[in-house]
Amino acid sequence: MTNHRGRFIAPEQAERLMDQYLDDLQAIVNIDSGTYTKSGVDRVAAYLQERFQAFGFATRLERQEQYGDHLVATHSGNAPDGPRILLVGHIDTVFPDGEAARRPFTITRREGQRAALGPGVLDMKSGLLIGMYALHLLIASQQANYREVTFVCNSDEEIGSPSSRELIQALARQSDAALVLEPGRALDTVVSSRRASGQYRVAVRGLSAHAGVEPQKGRNAILELSYQVQKMQALNGTVPGTSLSVSIIHGGDRVNVVPDYAYFDMDARANSKAAIQAIEAAMQRVVSQPMLDGTQITLSGGMLSAPFERSQQNEALVGLVKEAGRDLGIKIQDVGSGGASDANNTSAVGTPTLDGLGAGGGLAHNPDEYIELDYLPTRIALLAGLVQRIGVKGA
Ligand SMILES: [Zn+2]
Repeated sequence: MTNHRGRFIAPEQAERLMDQYLDDLQAIVNIDSGTYTKSGVDRVAAYLQERFQAFGFATRLERQEQYGDHLVATHSGNAPDGPRILLVGHIDTVFPDGEAARRPFTITRREGQRAALGPGVLDMKSGLLIGMYALHLLIASQQANYREVTFVCNSDEEIGSPSSRELIQALARQSDAALVLEPGRALDTVVSSRRASGQYRVAVRGLSAHAGVEPQKGRNAILELSYQVQKMQALNGTVPGTSLSVSIIHGGDRVNVVPDYAYFDMDARANSKAAIQAIEAAMQRVVSQPMLDGTQITLSGGMLSAPFERSQQNEALVGLVKEAGRDLGIKIQDVGSGGASDANNTSAVGTPTLDGLGAGGGLAHNPDEYIELDYLPTRIALLAGLVQRIGVKGA
């Protein structure tokens, strides 16, 4: 095997930047940037903007009224015929205002390893900086062998990217590959598929009547709904690549009235377009068969995002990251995830996508969220090596 030392970024090169990296991480973890804390998200964006500029990027802010501003940083590399690569990371966290003061950035030991704690440290403030430092190393060592890199830091991923999805998809359409910086789970994992998630409602229209005097004239919407709940929940596990869970139920408002309306909501997940069609067809069959005459049943809702599938073109990126891993002496594993991310959005417009390129750690969205500090230099080198390989081979 060729000795790539000198051609690719080595973890030792990233190791030398760790003090600076941790200063940056501490600064942005200690700013509350929950999705609904616009002022905090904007402060993190301003901090990152300055850092990107110091590393030679051109930057712009996409101003937002309701949510935080989106930061877009671009860098033209030294390969005019090379690929255009999109990096995607989110600034927002799931934590409320005041969280950073309650439990600020801390370095500690966890099961014998050095770890960092703090709100959003894993999901995904460390990931934003892994992206930034990987590119910084490539630029500083004249190894930016791409045509252009665009790095979008959006403000609202944790609520489904309502104000950034269009921007991300427009940038993805102009890119040869999209790399998403959501957490990896360990030193050696990346994420190559995510299920689509959806919300559906089944509503029953019946007929109200006096519950004591002439209940026989009524059509009890709750009774019909109860059959629907059981038949619908029974679909869970029967359609390959999907899951379904009845999660909210409402019906009736007066105890002496036969209820004429009731509904329930359910969460559904699917790992491919074919699986979405299959589960929706199965739902439709359930609602078309009422048990009580004179009730009407409607099904509404849908998937909120497309699935991020391990398609052939996405698989090419998995191959490249495995190569980059081999050079670093690690066997990369690509795993699937049940939750959606912006990878679902970039892959939906046909851009080859790979996710889970952020830090290794665990307990995202939990107060005990942590990252493994010893993994960071390798994860930075892994991402840099992946970017270089896309430059050489195309995605
Ligand atoms: Zn995230």
